[in-house]
Amino acid sequence: NDKDAINPADIDEYSKKHYPLCMRNLHETLRANHHLKHYGRLIYGLFLKAIGLKYEQFIEFWRSEFTKTMDTDAFNKNHLYNFNHQFGKVGKRVNYSPYSCMKIIMSNVGAGDAHCCPFRHFDVGRLRAKISECGAPSEGVSEIMQLVNNGHYQIACTKYFQYTHPQPSSNTINHPNQYFEESMNLVKD
Ligand code: SF4
Repeated sequence: NDKDAINPADIDEYSKKHYPLCMRNLHETLRANHHLKHYGRLIYGLFLKAIGLKYEQFIEFWRSEFTKTMDTDAFNKNHLYNFNHQFGKVGKRVNYSPYSCMKIIMSNVGAGDAHCCPFRHFDVGRLRAKISECGAPSEGVSEIMQLVNNGHYQIACTKYFQYTHPQPSSNTINHPNQYFEESMNLVKD
């Protein structure tokens, strides 16, 4: 995997073609609101770092979006430290791991939170509309909704991958970054 190959200008396209629904939802919410709440910033930020965004690109990515609704001083004062911390640049300088599916599925998701596993946390109508909008064919939508109905969220995500890619995922999806890497690898092959 060439981790240097991530171009920030391609993130919108990646989000449509290669992101799992959880990260696509965070990305689209960020683009729409120019803001994410704490856990949204953390979970999406760690995902972005793990897909290979460099530190400067990472800060610029957040700054350019957040400063659509606040000035640069406010961003620097209120948010820069946390993004630096997330990247392991300040504080304990921890190299934090990106969240796994299980951690996201078990998260507390409150009103206004964009961090979630859509298969677990979206209501049925919203999930059905979203997976259909994202390109799952109607027989796929029914199959996925049946799995969700039985509480098999990660298998539903794996099926969603299968219906939106030329080849199925080789394993059950258990990590958003696994989903991304498998999806990117299919393009490279
Ligand atoms: Fe994201 Fe995992 Fe849920 Fe798929 S199963 S949407 S990768 S949290």
